[in-house]
Amino acid sequence: MQTFKTAKEILEHTQKLRQKGKTIGFVPTMGALHDGHLSLVKKAREANDFAVCSIFVNPTQFNESADFENYPRTLESDLNKLKSADCDIAFIPSTAEIFPERDKSQYYIGEVASVLEGAHRPGHFNGVASVVKRLLELVKPHCAYFGLKDYQQYVVIKSLVEAYNIDVEIEGCEIVRETSGLAMSSRNGRLSSEGMDNASVLYKALLIAQQSMKDGKSVADAENDARTYLKAAPVELEYFEIRNRGNLSKPSINRNGLIALVAARVEGVRLIDNLFMESE
Ligand code: AMP
Repeated sequence: MQTFKTAKEILEHTQKLRQKGKTIGFVPTMGALHDGHLSLVKKAREANDFAVCSIFVNPTQFNESADFENYPRTLESDLNKLKSADCDIAFIPSTAEIFPERDKSQYYIGEVASVLEGAHRPGHFNGVASVVKRLLELVKPHCAYFGLKDYQQYVVIKSLVEAYNIDVEIEGCEIVRETSGLAMSSRNGRLSSEGMDNASVLYKALLIAQQSMKDGKSVADAENDARTYLKAAPVELEYFEIRNRGNLSKPSINRNGLIALVAARVEGVRLIDNLFMESE
């Protein structure tokens, strides 16, 4: 595996690969890698000549400084995991390499960026758009892989790529879960083992809503069933919402193409998860 630290190095290298007609699959991450990240690397490898994974804890997407400071940083073990996953290139830039100057741009990322996570984490998606656009310009991948675990981020990135005519395919990849159902997340590393057990109620709440919808209940009743369950659980609920999958607007009479999304804190750690309301 090759490792690059500077914007110049990665840009020159990926340009050469492109000139040779090689395809590049790209997985942007913030490190503290787990099997969810590695599933994206595997996809990138299988579908392209070269897989690039970036590790960069992006300061511009954190709206709470404590969350940024406490974000797990495990570079050495991350690089070992990437090697074992046969990743071809690791890109591990410093903040100065990605943002030589403060990026003050307001990105056009559509209405979808203003609801749910956008409403609870002001500025978050603008920061995500800023770093993803910069990384795509440097890595110049044919396809970039994003986890559906961050479903709203996936929709926002698709809207960013369309708005700025960026020539890249965006692929959404399935959520990898622990056996308890808890979605894997770098932030889980900050939970005690009891916290890990408690956090699995998020997935259970999503299943409750899915079952309620299957039983023919209204969207509002399905949301309430899940919220009632979560309010009695050892988590602090931020939101539980059923939305249209395409643009995350509130559903009217439609019962197809819906997704439930949840955000809650467990032991002070903010976690998100989601589930399509009908199995494909
Ligand atoms: P992060 O390092 O949290 O920014 O995540 C980097 C990428 O990995 C994003 O596209 C995430 O959606 C994806 N990802 C994180 N957790 C999972 C998971 N449990 N399953 C699948 N993809 C994931």
